[in-house]
Amino acid sequence: MRILVVDDDRLNRQFLINFLQAYGTCDEVGDGLAAVGAYRSALEEGEPYGLLCLDIMMPQLDGMEVLRRVQDVYAEKGEELAGPRPKVIMMTAIEDMQHINAAFELGCDAYASKPIDIAKVREVMHTLGIEPLQPAKER
Ligand SMILES: [Mg+2]
Repeated sequence: MRILVVDDDRLNRQFLINFLQAYGTCDEVGDGLAAVGAYRSALEEGEPYGLLCLDIMMPQLDGMEVLRRVQDVYAEKGEELAGPRPKVIMMTAIEDMQHINAAFELGCDAYASKPIDIAKVREVMHTLGIEPLQPAKER
């Protein structure tokens, strides 16, 4: 599965990717416009993203607007070309819950509050039916 991590904070992206690599091939972008572009290119290359992890708070295009535009691109391509709709996890500070409700209305599947707690994200992934490619190493 291809995974796109979108966050304007490089350290957040790195942190998430370190974890999400166990689930698939990860790409990262640092702003919303690049995110929509990456989503569209992947679709057009026939290797769409199966999972988007979207930070909400980003300058210019925020995560909500990215989600809106991604849904538009998906609708424009149609299910036949686009395959299954990507799963979307919104990442945000807990005090931003009103955004979360709106995000669900826009079609996000789950959210994880910041600061990111890996155990929580693992649980969210499991709830979405996404499992690591290989069982996690015991430590
Ligand atoms: Mg941010």
